[in-house]
Amino acid sequence: MLQVKNLNVSYGAIHAVHDIDLTVQDGEIVSLIGANGAGKTTILQTISGLKKADTGEIILDGLNLRSIAAHKIVTLGVAQVPEGRRVFAELSVQENLELGAYVVKDKAQAAAALAGIYQRFPRLEERKKQLAGTLSGGEQQMLAMGRALMSDPKVLLLDEPSMGLSPLLVKEIFSIIKELNQDRGITILLVEQNAKMALSIASRAYVLETGNIIMEGTGRELLENEKVKKAYLGA
Ligand code: ATP
Repeated sequence: MLQVKNLNVSYGAIHAVHDIDLTVQDGEIVSLIGANGAGKTTILQTISGLKKADTGEIILDGLNLRSIAAHKIVTLGVAQVPEGRRVFAELSVQENLELGAYVVKDKAQAAAALAGIYQRFPRLEERKKQLAGTLSGGEQQMLAMGRALMSDPKVLLLDEPSMGLSPLLVKEIFSIIKELNQDRGITILLVEQNAKMALSIASRAYVLETGNIIMEGTGRELLENEKVKKAYLGA
């Protein structure tokens, strides 16, 4: 359903992403792992239209997203949860969620989406009037995910959801990701430095090194791969 072909992306003279090809089929969880600066965030931002590609194609259900504006891409069913959550600290939990539905024109649909988020994340409902900046790291991650889910995406792009969280919360966030995929049928492209967790839940995964894909396989294959073990799993 989502196909990235021959993608090249630069920041001025820095060529961050080199001739990347990747696919994410309907219903898959695909993980993208790699060290700091490998180009993972750049790929997600290019898919969601926040960063422009130099060359290449990003095809969603037959449509090339490359020349489509970021807000339009949201309406086509792609939502991103950014690295570092980026919640609006001075707004309440509910206001943050409502912003996630800015592309939803139908008020009843937005209200139903909000009710669904509160059902999934009761902690957000308990704290709906609290300023987002005062939430804990785990709660902010849930809020960032809830905000992205407000647009009812087919594809969720998750950028380092486990960053800075305790092992217990990392487990909780990963089980939420799995549930969104299995129960709600949301296709997921996941960027992570926590390679072990990311490979454990992935149908397939890619390993990125300085802007190049150097390996791909099923999550299990990569978990058992000696090079991956040494470089990314601390084994
Ligand atoms: P991390 O895990 O640290 O977030 P990443 O794999 O997501 O890393 P990117 O953030 O995509 O990596 O960065 C890829 C490369 O592009 C890096 O060399 C980085 O320094 C560079 N880069 C990213 N954003 C910018 C920018 N706004 N201006 C200049 N260079 C940038």
